[in-house]
Amino acid sequence: MFEKCQNCGSRVISGRRDELGVFCSAECRNFVAHPGFCQTCLSTSSPRSTGGTFTFNGIGTGLYGRKDPCSVCGSVVQTHWICIFFVPIIPLGKYRVKYTQPRRFLSRRLSDKVLPPFPSATADLAVLRDGLRSPHSEMREHCASILGDRGLAAFAALPELELLLRDPNRRVRTRAKWAVETIQRKTSGG
Ligand SMILES: [Zn+2]
Ligand SMILES: [Zn+2]
Repeated sequence: MFEKCQNCGSRVISGRRDELGVFCSAECRNFVAHPGFCQTCLSTSSPRSTGGTFTFNGIGTGLYGRKDPCSVCGSVVQTHWICIFFVPIIPLGKYRVKYTQPRRFLSRRLSDKVLPPFPSATADLAVLRDGLRSPHSEMREHCASILGDRGLAAFAALPELELLLRDPNRRVRTRAKWAVETIQRKTSGG
């Protein structure tokens, strides 16, 4: 007698059991733990999906690579490729991918790697706060850095900076943590 996966209903042969239930795979467990993208992953990607992947006689499209796993929702960054005989040939774009089952997923397109110009150290507070919500992790990191340097003058940006403490990108999280701590220290007169 096999148990059934709590998420996809398939039979669990060598699955995992924990406080959430019995699952056939990490993907299924993850989907029950966080059923969808988190707020940060949503705001750093666009609603455009890969439209599914297919392969016929070894020719089709597929998702490859697994980078930048989100610590909140467990989604990963993958590249959508045209494949010939299962070999990736032409990249079609990068997506944030959230698996709902081992072979099913939701996907959201990441912006192309054309970076807008970085605001300077003297830029308006509003411009820098906008930058914290940029789809480009380099931009979020850059703006967090300037705001941290401003200390007390950047007090109004604290809520946005605190959101970045859960950013999918580790460098952004580190930079935001530093900025939040610096601003709070300056505020308390330290
Ligand atoms: Zn399952
Ligand atoms: Zn996420």
